[in-house]
Amino acid sequence: MVQAFLIKYAEIGIKGKNRYVFEDALVQNIKTAMKRVEGDFAVTKESGRIYVTAKTDYDEEEAVSALQKVFGISGICPVVIVEDTGFEDLAEAVVKYVGETYPDRHKTFKVNARRADKHYPLDSMELNAELGSRILAAYPEMKVDVHNPEISLVVEVRKRIYLYSQVIPGPGGMPVGCGGKAVLLLSGGIDSPVAGYMIAKRGVSIDAVYFHAPPYTSDRAKQKVADLADIISAYTGPINLHVINFTDIQLAIYEKCPHDELTIIMRRYMMRIAEEIAKKCGGMALVTGESIGQVASQTIQSLSVTNAVCTLPVFRPLIAFDKLDIIAVSEKIGTYETSVLPYEDCCTIFVAKHPVTKPVLKSIEKSERHLADVIDDLVAAALETEEVIRIG
Ligand code: ATP
Ligand code: MG
Repeated sequence: MVQAFLIKYAEIGIKGKNRYVFEDALVQNIKTAMKRVEGDFAVTKESGRIYVTAKTDYDEEEAVSALQKVFGISGICPVVIVEDTGFEDLAEAVVKYVGETYPDRHKTFKVNARRADKHYPLDSMELNAELGSRILAAYPEMKVDVHNPEISLVVEVRKRIYLYSQVIPGPGGMPVGCGGKAVLLLSGGIDSPVAGYMIAKRGVSIDAVYFHAPPYTSDRAKQKVADLADIISAYTGPINLHVINFTDIQLAIYEKCPHDELTIIMRRYMMRIAEEIAKKCGGMALVTGESIGQVASQTIQSLSVTNAVCTLPVFRPLIAFDKLDIIAVSEKIGTYETSVLPYEDCCTIFVAKHPVTKPVLKSIEKSERHLADVIDDLVAAALETEEVIRIG
């Protein structure tokens, strides 16, 4: 039975002072992730290593799957812990470990002993030689290869003795929280949840904002967005989902502005409001699921007219992705099935038949002047009535 996992993480670029910030964030995020797994786990940092130790029974597959969602982890090593009750017991445990871990033993191996506890009666070289010969005696079909073994069995002698030989790949990336916070514009579509996942992989934590337009969009549409936030929160950590009632703003735009410019003007107000939310929650950037050329509002011209209202940087992790590539990621992270549920979106309801694809900033600004009398109050009211849902 595997009793612990040794967590491997990439150390490049995190030397010195940053290392502690990185490791502490990783430990904290692993603790949060393991809360989703049935069982009780201790997450500890010991001499520059992170261990997840099981204190109760648990399902190994479930635990590994949770750890594979924690950014910053490069590898997960299942560890068997043996009490130090003498060399004979250790040799027996090592032989048993190899037998249970490798049903097919036609493999080359090497023993890689390390002593953190220098008082152990055998030194590393002696342990390598002795344990190696015990394994060969038990399994004559195995062969030693010290240069390029198929199995490299680590025997780490501490107060107790840790055995491991397998590395399950982790998700890579940086621990969420190390890279500051951004505000994700999260719709019920395929793209924005993927964008949130990608930015979180670089260590950025997220608050999300969803614009809904009751009664044109339903509670089911809102629930779908909350469900998507819940799915990505397994990767991003807890998310505050800010739900903004956008109906009156959309109606005003619809009433007062040229219809072929509706989408672009609406998007500019979404960005303005998202920036206000960012100011309040400490967000340092906005994140969207846009990709060049996907729809009229995602041409370079449209994106730059949208950007013109922003003072914060706008990150678009999917900017150069094909739709099929985005779909592949959404399937991998588990958002696809929810994203394709057919609930109405506020953008699709007020969309023009022939939206501008090459908007000119000056003329959009001119159209927005028609809103001058009402828009500040409407934006203020939308911000005042926001609903914040805590997810994850
Ligand atoms: P998605 O699949 O993410 O909905 P999309 O291809 O449908 O994207 P648009 O509808 O043009 O594209 O939206 C572009 C981006 O604007 C979205 O990726 C998202 O970041 C943001 N967005 C659109 N609608 C909303 C909304 N109702 N609430 C919050 N953000 C939104
Ligand atoms: Mg959409």
